[in-house]
Amino acid sequence: MTSAVNVSELINQFEIAARLSAQGRLVARSPIHGGELARLALSSGDDATRAIDQAQAAFLDWRSVPAPRRGELIRLFAEELRAHKAALGLLITIENGKILQEGLGEVQEMIDICDFAVGLSRQLYGLTLATERPGHRMMETWHPLGVVGIVSAFNFPAAVWAWNAAIALVCGDALVWKPSEKTPLTALACQALLDRAAARFGGAPPGLSNVILGGPDLAEALADDPRVPLVSATGSTRMGRAVAPRIAARFGRAILELGGNNGMIVAPSADLALALRAALFAAAGTAGQRCTTLRRLFVHESIYDGFIARLKRAFAETVVGDPRDAQTLVGPLIDEAAYAAMQAALAEAGAEGGQVSGGERLHAQLWPEAFYARPALVETPRQTALVRRETFAPILYVLRYGALDEAIAAHNAVAQGLSSSIFTNDLREAELFLSSAGSDCGIVNVNIGPSGAEIGGAFGGEKETGGGREAGSDCWKAYMRRATNTINFSRDLPLAQGVRFDAPEGLG
Ligand code: NAD
Repeated sequence: MTSAVNVSELINQFEIAARLSAQGRLVARSPIHGGELARLALSSGDDATRAIDQAQAAFLDWRSVPAPRRGELIRLFAEELRAHKAALGLLITIENGKILQEGLGEVQEMIDICDFAVGLSRQLYGLTLATERPGHRMMETWHPLGVVGIVSAFNFPAAVWAWNAAIALVCGDALVWKPSEKTPLTALACQALLDRAAARFGGAPPGLSNVILGGPDLAEALADDPRVPLVSATGSTRMGRAVAPRIAARFGRAILELGGNNGMIVAPSADLALALRAALFAAAGTAGQRCTTLRRLFVHESIYDGFIARLKRAFAETVVGDPRDAQTLVGPLIDEAAYAAMQAALAEAGAEGGQVSGGERLHAQLWPEAFYARPALVETPRQTALVRRETFAPILYVLRYGALDEAIAAHNAVAQGLSSSIFTNDLREAELFLSSAGSDCGIVNVNIGPSGAEIGGAFGGEKETGGGREAGSDCWKAYMRRATNTINFSRDLPLAQGVRFDAPEGLG
């Protein structure tokens, strides 16, 4: 069981004790045992307004700091992350329940995006464009945007913020972060490390990065405030439906990173050993609580029986337990509501003809307030409404297919469009899946599973996943505003499109 000492040591290490409050109404819990870790004060609407005020004031300074100098802040932040990787990884594991390897991996992802952002701080390039007017030059410049609001989910309590924060800060923006109410300690620890980097940097404006703790009302405050030109919101499609219209109503920009319902096709020519390992990690890993978790598996009928028998055995033998133990591969679900949603989905699957294996509760005697479950595999004859919706738990629905076209059509016949993969050694099949007639997702992989993206690429998905992209590639452009500049170095004033508009005699 997580000892109190353990957590208070981490709280001391990150110097966040001052944010704790014995009477606070926000309770930080550990899903490892379900018990309370700490209490914190909820931020009020006024706190949110104050945070936006501070960030706006900081932005007015920060936007004029040269971008490579802004990159220096992120370089120092990455140093703090490297120095505290073990402690922050452990805190993530204690507060979120993912296995320690994944907690550490989440911190590594933060370090990686910082490194990317430092390089980016010497780029942020615009184009020079051909102009039709003689003696003119046309170019585009990219300017800092303003205050970026970040709303994040419990399942990546640190990395999603870092993807946004590292890029936004080198782009010259200021931040207000509303983390998940289920992971407030991790958020405060991240902010503390950034504050330390800022102190070493010297000259970062106060209020450049702010954290407000609480529920949806604070996300709404960010969505509604016209001083927040961009809100990057990660969470369920339900949350996206609530915040997106509010941001749109004031013509703000949104990066929406919402729910997924990710599929994988295993074709007859696939390397089945690879496909098995990939399916196991993608479906059961992180207790099924990744947006890119594998939820739907389409297996060709010629290999179905043998492959599914092996996969069931792998599910049955996977070690589920304390996420800090080295042999554990699957930790607890975040809370009782997640477990109840899993059980409801399995009951529905059984009632509509699915064959369910696994899914039972584990370790209830040892930790009655924690919710561990064996990953479940459901063989289902049809892609029902249940299969088409995201249940954020380790449930893998398995379907048999005959022709690849059918499998791709079924794969795309869901409302979400985040991540996808095919296992095949047939070049034609792989290329079809990658083509415009293939997967309709934002992430499309061959011979690796759908989960576990790298920061170098653009991350995000289509349809109800929200259409947002963040992290690598050219995602930085969403955090800046583009200006098109035309400069006349001639002595004439030619108008575009050959328009003639001569001034009256004597004035020209
Ligand atoms: P959630 O939607 O319950 O909460 C996410 C955040 O939104 C939290 O900060 C929460 O306080 C806030 N929120 C919730 N409802 C809101 C509302 N009505 N109005 C305003 N704010 C609201 O999600 P969760 O349970 O924390 O995370 C799991 C979900 O997030 C899954 O659907 C998962 O697929 C998705 N997710 C998506 C990505 C992605 O990149 N696409 C990444 C991680 C998680």
